[in-house]
Amino acid sequence: MLGRSLILKTAAWKPVERLVRRSFLFRPLVRRFIAGDTLEEAMTHAEKLAERGLATSLDYLGENTLNETEALAAKATYIAMLERIARSPHRDRINISIKLTQCGLDQGESFAERNFREVLTVAAKTDTFVRVDMESSDYTERTIAMIERVFPDHPNTGTVLQSYLYRTPDDAERLIRLGCRVRIVKGAYLEPETVAFKEKSRVDEAYIEIAKQLMSRGRYPAIATHDAKIIDALKAYAKAEGIDRSRFEFQMLYGIRRDLQDGLRDEGYPVRVYVPFGDMWYPYFTRRLAERPANAFFILKSLFKG
Ligand SMILES: Cc1cc2nc3c(=O)[nH]c(=O)nc-3n(C[C@H](O)[C@H](O)[C@H](O)COP(=O)(O)OP(=O)(O)OC[C@H]3O[C@@H](n4cnc5c(N)ncnc54)[C@H](O)[C@@H]3O)c2cc1C
Repeated sequence: MLGRSLILKTAAWKPVERLVRRSFLFRPLVRRFIAGDTLEEAMTHAEKLAERGLATSLDYLGENTLNETEALAAKATYIAMLERIARSPHRDRINISIKLTQCGLDQGESFAERNFREVLTVAAKTDTFVRVDMESSDYTERTIAMIERVFPDHPNTGTVLQSYLYRTPDDAERLIRLGCRVRIVKGAYLEPETVAFKEKSRVDEAYIEIAKQLMSRGRYPAIATHDAKIIDALKAYAKAEGIDRSRFEFQMLYGIRRDLQDGLRDEGYPVRVYVPFGDMWYPYFTRRLAERPANAFFILKSLFKG
């Protein structure tokens, strides 16, 4: 069985990236995780999901802009997404997730902050929530600090915490104090042992602990996982503590565990599906492969055959 870090390292190898990007062989697998290349395709999926009683968060794929022009183009796309959502009959069920490195964080914190604030101003006019995804640990502190600066002026934002990082219990306290919405995830990046747990059991234990804190003391947390055991444990916790189903939501990724998404919806829990779109799908796609080695094994087998 291929390990997660081996898959992420192999996928970062340029010849592998070129092959996977160009080959039609992988298209069905890419399409399973990515809703399409355009905003219109993503909206079609979001509206269909809304009709099935599922909320969505649209993600315009891309990270780490190389210059200010790229970051400004990403900001313009975020604004176009907000304007398009505002015209949808299902606008109450659709929000967006963005990345600070796509707002230009590598080009400078104040530049990224200006772009981020501009997006939030448009989102406030259309009454839409904007979630800041969490990227690799190089960006954790800058992301949380940015949210702390911006949230008092723009309460329509929140972010994500990753249970694999040792620092996350302290960050959860910071964000509970701040009062912003937090999505808790396990974490999808390749991190060194100096900052993150390696053993799945430690990541899962931390996840449950932090999720409980957020559910008891936080503001409308998002429990983002496909892990049925964790979901059951947190449902039991909510029941034991008298936490109403309307005070938190479950979130899952587009194309993963649709059965679980529908099941939770049928039980009356709010469920939101994260819907990625755009042509910069490769890094997102490789993180999904690393979570499910069987998929990556299929790709490697095809590479060696061909
Ligand atoms: C809505 C949402 C937003 C996210 N945002 C971020 C973010 O901002 N930053 C970040 O670092 N990470 C993010 N993630 C990814 C997250 O960190 C995990 O990498 C991912 O969710 C897999 O972990 P898991 O909790 O599902 O548990 P796992 O233990 O990895 O998986 C549990 C079960 O889910 C199923 N499963 C999980 N992944 C896959 C897959 N790729 N293909 C098929 N089946 C699968 C399998 O049945 C597996 O046994 C997000 C995840 C979700 C659901």
